[in-house]
Amino acid sequence: MSDSRTAHTTPLEAKSPFELRVNLGADVPETTVRSALATGDMGFLHSFTTGATVDGPGVRVVAWTAGCMWRCLYCHNPDTWTMTNGMLVPVALALEELRKYKHGLQVMAGGFTLSGGEPLMQHRFAAKVLSGAKALGIHTALDTNGYFGDKLSDGELESIDLVLLDIKSWDPSRHRRLTGMDIEPTLTFARRLAARHRPMWLRYVLVPGLTDRFDDIAKIAQFAAKLSNVERVDVLPFHQMGKFKWNQLGIPYTLEHTDPPGQDLVERALDVFRRAGLKAV
Ligand code: SF4
Repeated sequence: MSDSRTAHTTPLEAKSPFELRVNLGADVPETTVRSALATGDMGFLHSFTTGATVDGPGVRVVAWTAGCMWRCLYCHNPDTWTMTNGMLVPVALALEELRKYKHGLQVMAGGFTLSGGEPLMQHRFAAKVLSGAKALGIHTALDTNGYFGDKLSDGELESIDLVLLDIKSWDPSRHRRLTGMDIEPTLTFARRLAARHRPMWLRYVLVPGLTDRFDDIAKIAQFAAKLSNVERVDVLPFHQMGKFKWNQLGIPYTLEHTDPPGQDLVERALDVFRRAGLKAV
């Protein structure tokens, strides 16, 4: 396990977001943290990864932010809940890293995705990195639970080519049990994105016994179908790749014995979205 003593030797680039990273920013003074959050000139990142093909169109470079106020029972990166588990990275350095891949990303019709954690926990940093990437001529995507969507101005939304919006459940009480938070701000953000004609992909994590109620999925599908901006729906099968993180961090994990969904269940969920007129993959 990493600790603060390794912060300066840990490379920003990781092989995958499933690398466990903790305490990389634990030594950052409180005043620096406050200033980073207020100005967005620096942000806490878990890592950069390259070659992703599931976080937006084409091949993507993904920056994984640290910090999330939700507590999803199926979260596969609980080390990103704590902001100071990440390393403090200046915007300029993040953009320098991105510049290295600019040509390749353009050739492969890919781009840059800011994910997490929840990127909008650091909304000033998120806005600066995304507008900087856009200014480099790179396609930009934001993967978010949408809770802090109102922190972004209309102008800032324009620098985001695509929002990957995670909707976890439709029923408010089930949503609260699943994530610890209310669903409404996410839906409000989705409506705002639609009103502003900002392209959106909806993401839905399918967990047997937890998010596989078809009446719930149908309501999300009906909601999404009424929005004018949902280009596609990704049904993401639950997996256990993050289980070791829960165990290593000593956080009680309730899905220890939950299996990934079978193909049949995935197809049925996809079908619910498709029957509402949406493209679902
Ligand atoms: S919103 Fe994402 S990062 Fe946050 S707890 Fe849920 S799955 Fe994990």
